[in-house]
Amino acid sequence: MPWLNPTLKETSGKKSNNQAGPPGSSEGQPLFIKEKMISIIIPLYNEESLVNDLLFAVHSAMDPLNLQWEMIVVDDGSRDGTLSILKLAKEKDKHLRILCLSRNFGHQAAFTAGLEHASGDLVVMMDGDLQDPPALIPQMMEKLEKNALDVVLGRRTERNEEPFKRWSIKLFHKIFDSISGLDNAEDTGNFCIMRRPVVDALLLMKEQNRYLPGLRAFVGFKKGDVSYERPDRLKGNAAMGFRRLLSLAGDAIFSFSRWPVKLALYLGLFGVLFFLMAISYTFVSKIMGWAPLGWSSTFLTVSFFGSVQLVFLGIIGEYVYRIYKEVQNRPLYIVKESID
Ligand code: UDP
Ligand code: MG
Repeated sequence: MPWLNPTLKETSGKKSNNQAGPPGSSEGQPLFIKEKMISIIIPLYNEESLVNDLLFAVHSAMDPLNLQWEMIVVDDGSRDGTLSILKLAKEKDKHLRILCLSRNFGHQAAFTAGLEHASGDLVVMMDGDLQDPPALIPQMMEKLEKNALDVVLGRRTERNEEPFKRWSIKLFHKIFDSISGLDNAEDTGNFCIMRRPVVDALLLMKEQNRYLPGLRAFVGFKKGDVSYERPDRLKGNAAMGFRRLLSLAGDAIFSFSRWPVKLALYLGLFGVLFFLMAISYTFVSKIMGWAPLGWSSTFLTVSFFGSVQLVFLGIIGEYVYRIYKEVQNRPLYIVKESID
């Protein structure tokens, strides 16, 4: 590899400890020669309590490497002091670029804004609450180069989060993997490092309902991963509450699979089967002279078909809404201020 420093040492690449510092950097030796530019994209929404810890952690990971790098922090319409802390830090930090969105557009739109403004040959996407440890970035870069990969994903061996959230995210990944036909890589999220061609491929996709890990799986390329134990967020509360996670899961499922339509079809077929059985039963009971069917059977049949139809309408409505959103073709985000 042209930009690998010959002094780079072999490491197992299987390290799962996120506490580890940059591999090979303990002697202060740069790992890579300075030809490549690295962009680190971090969306922030109301994170005033941890901005300084975040900037410190990113610098601690990147400074020893002596590389060209930038950190694009996207302020996703924070209402607290996040932006002013960033602006203050910017006065002394030449690596920091701030993109300030005009309102809260959401985590995925904020990442997209960062991707569109990144100039790096290598681009890192990471959450800003230190659940994606910056200390892992050098290890990811090393793996990318040594194994000639295009993408290295952070793979969570363990998540120190509340059990319900952990369980529901795991369930979502299982469902998504089995219905999307994509290798979405279970136990991975946004945290990754990508080469420029992968980023360009991602940016070709302009859809409104974005689920970036799915799009990243869709574009292909050669992928590997680095394992780490995902800590709980350092400070503050998760902005992605259960409802927002559910809506992200909806974006993922509706935009990457035909499964909802298939489900409607199967439900419909089941309804038809049920209806045929009900007809046969009615017919037989007439012939046999059994008691005439009462209101309960009528009621059950009507409500069953009514609900099946409502499910159909809901699913079709979801698609119509999504088509409408795509046709509107509104910008995914609006940058109010860009501080370079
Ligand atoms: N975030 C954002 N916009 C939002 C919600 C979240 O930029 O509308 C940022 C947030 O500040 C954090 C990252 O996205 O840096 C992940 O958010 P969070 O920790 O709430 O998500 P979770 O870890 O619960 O999935
Ligand atoms: Mg988080």
